[in-house]
Amino acid sequence: MLVFDSLETGPIMTNCYILGDSESKVAAVVDPGGHVGAIRSALERHELECKWIINTHAHFDHVGGNAELKQATGAEIIIHPAEAEALAHLSKHAQLFGLSVEDSPPADRTIEDGEVIEVGSLRLNVLHTPGHSPGGISLVVEGEKKILVGDLIFQGSIGRTDLPGGSFETLKKMADEKILVHSDDTDLYPGHGPSTTVGVEKRTNPFLTGELL
Ligand SMILES: [Zn+2]
Ligand SMILES: [Zn+2]
Repeated sequence: MLVFDSLETGPIMTNCYILGDSESKVAAVVDPGGHVGAIRSALERHELECKWIINTHAHFDHVGGNAELKQATGAEIIIHPAEAEALAHLSKHAQLFGLSVEDSPPADRTIEDGEVIEVGSLRLNVLHTPGHSPGGISLVVEGEKKILVGDLIFQGSIGRTDLPGGSFETLKKMADEKILVHSDDTDLYPGHGPSTTVGVEKRTNPFLTGELL
């Protein structure tokens, strides 16, 4: 059974998600932005061992906790190949925003569109969803009607497309072809802010309905 939890972490309160398997007691932590003590307390509360750290993309606010969490747990870092290099330049990137974060250790494994990450009996299907960031991924939790979308889609909004490698056209195409094709009652868990659903965003998100074009 899926154990699902989330907490806001890091310098700009990024959503960090815990996906655990209640039988084998292993978990993946998605986007540890920081506050690794709080992430570890949540893992302990659920009696889960973190074996994988998955980054939806390499912006500093999603990966600032990689180093400390890996050091504490020995977890493998997993990211799309187009984001892997940026892991070494986090501190510089954060400085541009006047913030400080630790560089991440290199990726242990890179994953592409269509691959599956197994977390005990859980299966996370990887979708390559660029637009906000070139190697951005979304994770479909198989059989659960849950998709972690990173900074692709927010409730009523979308991720920035003006950062290096961003593109509104690509983002819109990815949202339309890979996310909004799921059933209306599928929950979407973004990198910032509250969760939403495919149905709500399809009907009311002005960036996705075409209203703002
Ligand atoms: Zn981002
Ligand atoms: Zn973000």
